[in-house]
Amino acid sequence: MAHDSPHMTAMVCAAPGEPLHCETRPVPEPGPGEVLVEVLACGVCRTDLHVVDGEIPALYPIVPGHEIVGRVIALGEGVTDFVPGMRVGIPWLGHACGTCDYCRSGRENLCDHPEFTGATRDGGYATHAVADAHFCFPIPEGLGDLEAAPLLCAGLIGWRAYRMAGPGKRIGLYGFGAAAHILAQLAVAQGREVYAFTSPGDTAAQEFARRLGCTWAGESTGQPPQLLDAAILFAPVGSLVPAALKAVRKGGRVVCAGIHMSDIPQFPYADLWGEREIVSVANLTREDGTSFLRPDIAGKVTSHVVPFPLAQANEALARLREGKIEGAAVLVP
Ligand SMILES: [Zn+2]
Ligand SMILES: [Zn+2]
Repeated sequence: MAHDSPHMTAMVCAAPGEPLHCETRPVPEPGPGEVLVEVLACGVCRTDLHVVDGEIPALYPIVPGHEIVGRVIALGEGVTDFVPGMRVGIPWLGHACGTCDYCRSGRENLCDHPEFTGATRDGGYATHAVADAHFCFPIPEGLGDLEAAPLLCAGLIGWRAYRMAGPGKRIGLYGFGAAAHILAQLAVAQGREVYAFTSPGDTAAQEFARRLGCTWAGESTGQPPQLLDAAILFAPVGSLVPAALKAVRKGGRVVCAGIHMSDIPQFPYADLWGEREIVSVANLTREDGTSFLRPDIAGKVTSHVVPFPLAQANEALARLREGKIEGAAVLVP
């Protein structure tokens, strides 16, 4: 059970609206059913900005970060699925109760008593982290630590949203950041046509989307050249919901994949008419993880990562806020 250093470093958000500060803490002991990992890489997700800004429920002080790739260095009592030395991924859903109606009906993503990594339990902006072993995923061999990190939220939530979008051929992605750049590659590999919508004037993101095989890339305020079968919104911008409704055909579906979004403006009922649907995606289930982290699914994707040292977590968040990350930012301890 012994590990090398008795102390760890963590980037901590003390209260909503405060920048992260660096803390030295004793390395925690894993409790029953938990694993202790040495963090190898942790992705920076837009949800971390919502935590730092106080826009979603979180318990402060909190260590953000829910795209953790770690190496197991100690096991709590009763852990049998992992051994020290294994690489594991620790995602956003840190724990579900297992007994509520949602958990018992295969919808643990909607659990009434959930815990969320990097929001209600300390996450991966740190050198070490503990996690409920039942909610960790083995990381497939062949995936680099940095490249695997964004798969654990951007990839997983993208995958859940993609499955919810249905089997249609033409898929629109609004907001071409970490999640969209992963999902676009997967959708193209599966023979779909991907239409990428970016902020007005963001020609760099449009060019990036075309390089990844998107059929079309343009501004989110405009219309695609053809009506879409489905649209997925990754940008947290409520005005994109009516815009996306106008871009989908009759029977089309608009999937809102963000955890937080600005208000949706009023729009004419005619835009929803024709059995168009608006749905949201909340969190993930462990089945999303095991069905996604496979060689024929996640293995089709190459994450484009922009690494930052752990101590520069605030800079990474600022760059993400400005929309200046091509692909996904990843913190490296
Ligand atoms: Zn539950
Ligand atoms: Zn996330």
